[in-house]
Amino acid sequence: MNLSNVLETKCGKDIASCTNEEIYFGLLSLVDELANQKQSNKGKKKVYYISAEFLIGKLLSNNLINLGIYEEVKSVLEENGKNLSDVEEVEPEPSLGNGGLGRLAACFLDSIATLGLNGDGIGLNYHFGLFKQVFKDKLQLEQKNEWIEKNSWLNKTDVTYDIECGGFKLKSRLYDINVIGYNNRVNKLHLFDVETIDESIVKDGSINFDKEDIPKNLTLFLYPDDSDEDGRLLRVYQQYFMVSNAARLILDECEAKGSNLYDLYDYAVIQINDTHPTMVIPELIRLLNERGISMDDAIEIVSKTCAYTNHTILAEALEKWPMSYLEKAVPNLIDIIRELDKRVREKYEDKDLYIIDEDNRVHMARIDIHYCFSVNGVASLHTEILEKNELNNFYEIYPEKFNNKTNGITFRRWLMHCNHELTNLIEDLIGDGFKTDANELEKLGEYVDNKDVLQKLLNIKFDNKVELKNYIKQHQGIEINENSIFDIQIKRLHEYKRQQMNALYVIYKYLEIKNGNIPSTPITVIFGAKAAPAYTIAKDIIHLILCLQELINNDEEVNKYLNVVMVENYNVTYAEKLIPACDISEQISLASKEASGTGNMKFMLNGALTLGTEDGANVEIHELVGDDNIFIFGKDSETVIKHYENGDYESIDIYARNPKIKDVVDFIIGKELMSIGNAESLIRLFKEIVKKDWFMALLDLEDYIKTKELAFKEYEDRENWAKKMLINISKAGYFSSDRTINDYNNDIWKL
Ligand SMILES: *Cc1c(COP(=O)(O)O)cnc(C)c1O
Repeated sequence: MNLSNVLETKCGKDIASCTNEEIYFGLLSLVDELANQKQSNKGKKKVYYISAEFLIGKLLSNNLINLGIYEEVKSVLEENGKNLSDVEEVEPEPSLGNGGLGRLAACFLDSIATLGLNGDGIGLNYHFGLFKQVFKDKLQLEQKNEWIEKNSWLNKTDVTYDIECGGFKLKSRLYDINVIGYNNRVNKLHLFDVETIDESIVKDGSINFDKEDIPKNLTLFLYPDDSDEDGRLLRVYQQYFMVSNAARLILDECEAKGSNLYDLYDYAVIQINDTHPTMVIPELIRLLNERGISMDDAIEIVSKTCAYTNHTILAEALEKWPMSYLEKAVPNLIDIIRELDKRVREKYEDKDLYIIDEDNRVHMARIDIHYCFSVNGVASLHTEILEKNELNNFYEIYPEKFNNKTNGITFRRWLMHCNHELTNLIEDLIGDGFKTDANELEKLGEYVDNKDVLQKLLNIKFDNKVELKNYIKQHQGIEINENSIFDIQIKRLHEYKRQQMNALYVIYKYLEIKNGNIPSTPITVIFGAKAAPAYTIAKDIIHLILCLQELINNDEEVNKYLNVVMVENYNVTYAEKLIPACDISEQISLASKEASGTGNMKFMLNGALTLGTEDGANVEIHELVGDDNIFIFGKDSETVIKHYENGDYESIDIYARNPKIKDVVDFIIGKELMSIGNAESLIRLFKEIVKKDWFMALLDLEDYIKTKELAFKEYEDRENWAKKMLINISKAGYFSSDRTINDYNNDIWKL
């Protein structure tokens, strides 16, 4: 194939005279054509990964890499005076996920296809995805985030179903996105949409719409604001629409392959990603009943087909739907859910095992645990806490169902695509085997005393910092110092992730510098985070950070040594710029609260050192790299869990006893910030921290400050730091999602 000619035919003119947008559409069409020529994975049994979120990010470059034509396309464009990264810029990002859980689903699809496994994703085609974040007057505003252009990665199919919800019928339509494996075959991401969708009911610049008009709004947004009843009901409709379509598609595909439905589990395994797709269980049972299979048989068949992944131990995040919602939205499932509950009650006395509780709420996770054959956590500490604490009563009755699958990330996106220089260095040193067998990164261990390699590593980090500096300057007009330490915390905003503790450190450092304690190397603290629109305290934390950004970056005494940047609209695209440039990866959740984290893995792979608590997969990172190559602080999960059990944590005691902490916390409502910020928001946050501090930021603050100072001190010895970077990279192979998917396949799916 002569790529240059093919691309010119696609674009309808010579490349040199095309706009970047025309080139993007040309490449998109070319990629899809090549993908459609590839074989899809076949085989009797298929895994269906059902998820409300697939945070796939931009697809062009990754698809070019996986097709093996990235370098060729890049040079053809260069020969014509074009730049592939400028073309990447015009691609809109499909933000079909909130954060880690959705990004995990996207990494899994990449690995499933790359490993040549027969498996598709199933989800919803949200027209605006997650909102776009803009800052105005140091506050987060939410805007709709359009991504579907006249040409997109979506391919319309002929598959449609009639879905009966409470009150009306919806006609669905399936759209497919090709999932191209690295040097391998092609799978599908199936995204269902409703035919009557109407984008025009959302006014420009807002995310508001008539929440009751389900036929028009059903797939407009991911997780619409659920602070009011209509929003929550809409979410139930979305979930049911997703799983009803999924169930029909799965049954159709299996029957077409020869299943008599009694042997469904020989043809399909359904991975339920968190509880959002839980209703696929009663829906499948209902559809099997409709096809003449008895209740007993249907329940057994479905239980042998479905597997559940738990992603959280935050009790408030476990979905419980009032029966009244389900009666309204999914009347067809009520009898079956009651039947499933009845069978539990007949067998067990323990009320905490019942599906329907005393308040007539349906516990979605309990449906999954009783009626799936596998229940897995996503990091070893997380699974341990599920077994010993959160789900102990279930573990006691079903010990054989519980298993751990530590999360992973695809190295195609999080190394090869986002960090070309580092990829090339690794390839020069150990060959390209690591691209398909991530464990080969271990071979880098041979170079820990090689000064030349260590210097190259530092040079690459520096180059990536310059690139990030330019990107931030271009997008937000903020100037940062490429010679400073880049200390980065990027993840959804949540109190348990403790961005507020990092902000308190920033205040501490500001006061130190004001007192004449100047850091040896300047520090740039970078945040990126979206807050759920109705989560007030999370928005207050963003406001505090934006106030600190304004105060500190404009303070001539301090800004030479300390800068703060909150990047706007943190998403996958931004992550790909931030992660390769990072020196210190902030993974500071309250121990026991972060199920796994995957950001921590991306940073490690790109040579950042982790500053973190013993939480989630940080524990496994710590085990792999050893004490000398990570900065661990804070109370451990057992201590934290005891505090919750005893209810004996009082942040005000720490505040009152420790004058240094008191000064830092008081600064939130001091004259400097009150004069530039919103008083109501600052006071509310201050009170929250002093009077409640549910996620115990003050408990770990002192240790956090101490450990962070230690990390900055160690940074001064550049060669020693580079050695630690190299060790981190060399041990990152375990966190390849190829390893994770192999584990899922060997233990759960058995394809
Ligand atoms: C990886 C990723 C996340 C998850 O980050 P955590 O630090 O694990 O919470 C969230 N958002 C985006 C855009 C990501 O790429």
